[in-house]
Amino acid sequence: MNYQVLLYYHYTTIEDPAAFSAKHLEACKALNLKGRILVAAEGINGTVSGTIEATNAYMEMMKNNSLFEGIVFKIDEAEGHAFKKMHVRPRPELVNLSLEDDINPKEITGRYLSPEQFFEEMQQEDTVVLDVRNTYEYEVGHFRGAIRPEVETFRDTPQWVRENRELFEGKRVLTYCTGGIRCEKFSGWLKREGIGEDVGQLHGGIATYGKDPVAKGQLWDGQMYVFDERLTVPINQVEHVVVGKDHFDGTPCERYVNCANPECNKQILCSEENERKHLGGCTIECSRHERNRYIVKHNLTEEFVQQQIKWLEETLV
Ligand SMILES: [Zn+2]
Repeated sequence: MNYQVLLYYHYTTIEDPAAFSAKHLEACKALNLKGRILVAAEGINGTVSGTIEATNAYMEMMKNNSLFEGIVFKIDEAEGHAFKKMHVRPRPELVNLSLEDDINPKEITGRYLSPEQFFEEMQQEDTVVLDVRNTYEYEVGHFRGAIRPEVETFRDTPQWVRENRELFEGKRVLTYCTGGIRCEKFSGWLKREGIGEDVGQLHGGIATYGKDPVAKGQLWDGQMYVFDERLTVPINQVEHVVVGKDHFDGTPCERYVNCANPECNKQILCSEENERKHLGGCTIECSRHERNRYIVKHNLTEEFVQQQIKWLEETLV
């Protein structure tokens, strides 16, 4: 393991996000880092991979910049880069919540809970645990018993919570996400809306929780979805319960693939066998797509393709 993957965010004031991004990209490239960094007037949010030496130098550089005082890095060991390219992009906001009246987490946010506190409190009565991530993240792993808003993306979560207010009435609400950044704003929003009795957030997110020597990732089922080439990483150090389900037959599965239709590209969980049976497509339309990448990549014969399409047409009626 000669590489590291860093995950971090920091709310701060960046005067000129575009100019900062251009300069920051140069610095990252000089260190031969790869990854994705978002820069907004409200701060920075990034994940990068590189050699141990390069990632350490990057953390040093950030810590020495007064803008990022107190920044916390989550560090994973890795065997190589987790990204193909290096991007630093200016954005209007760090997480896409699109609130009509934005939240500044430095002014209002939920109570910070250490992994140990979160583990304890989530098991208490009158407590609801709220997953504030996207559906495809939840599907492969989540905290046992967590509420998952029935929305496609994070942006739609506030509306769902308003419509389901009674779920939180008189309860302590604990939120969690991958690295903690989405909770900073969302728990602040819950407080402002007066949802629940008390609002807490898992500080440092699931990534920190999985490494904590006391919590040991307990009560996490499945794997954690990550936004890099690894796709998923383990969290629970004590037991492993599979919650992911094969897109095609519903059997337990933790293998993510992208739909072979380049115009769809949807991430689905499925076995190698089912992927082949469906020619890598998430629906029959995708299996039939003229630019199906699975057929090209696996050098499938025209005969096999026709036979599978016929089988799909017959089984899907
Ligand atoms: Zn598809």
